[in-house]
Amino acid sequence: MSSHVKLFDEQEIQNRIEELAQEISQSISNDFMILGLLKGSFVFIADLSRALYRVDRHPEIEFMRLSSYGLEKTSAGEVHLLGDCPTDLSGRHVLLVDDIVDTGRSIAYARAILEQREVGQLWICVLLDKPNRREVDVRVDFVGFTIDDVFVAGYGIDYAEKFRELPHIVVVD
Ligand code: 5GP
Ligand code: MG
Repeated sequence: MSSHVKLFDEQEIQNRIEELAQEISQSISNDFMILGLLKGSFVFIADLSRALYRVDRHPEIEFMRLSSYGLEKTSAGEVHLLGDCPTDLSGRHVLLVDDIVDTGRSIAYARAILEQREVGQLWICVLLDKPNRREVDVRVDFVGFTIDDVFVAGYGIDYAEKFRELPHIVVVD
């Protein structure tokens, strides 16, 4: 049996997202779009986009789907594009949003795709950062929370496709 200890409750997450929206609105151009990485970021983006609305930012929202951990708790190491964003991104200012930056491979992979497509300015926002796990050096502009090397689930983030519906974030042991 695995155990689940609460790491961030619903209110803590909401409070931090309101702050993040302020930080974003104060430091990047008005005409950015959000590009989310599925599936883990869908709940975060639902809340972040509405927090941005409250600070008068109205980004278009698109998604790309990258390969995932599957049923494991550790990454296979290789990233693939499972589903592309159908919109032409050239010249667009993009806020790339993911749930977690861990080794940095997913963000680096997505970033390379976006640079190949000649996007305009590019910023990166993640809800959770695990800096101790970094293998690829990626610049992350906006971080919700910095956490230790633990495996988390909830708030859109799964463990073997479970727990995405939790309104809070737990550590899975
Ligand atoms: P990276 O490519 O930086 O190693 O990993 C990023 C991706 O791995 C995230 O988008 C997320 O999907 C997944 N990931 C990293 N840490 C965790 C975790 O603690 N729990 C879950 N469920 N996924 C994680
Ligand atoms: Mg992911």
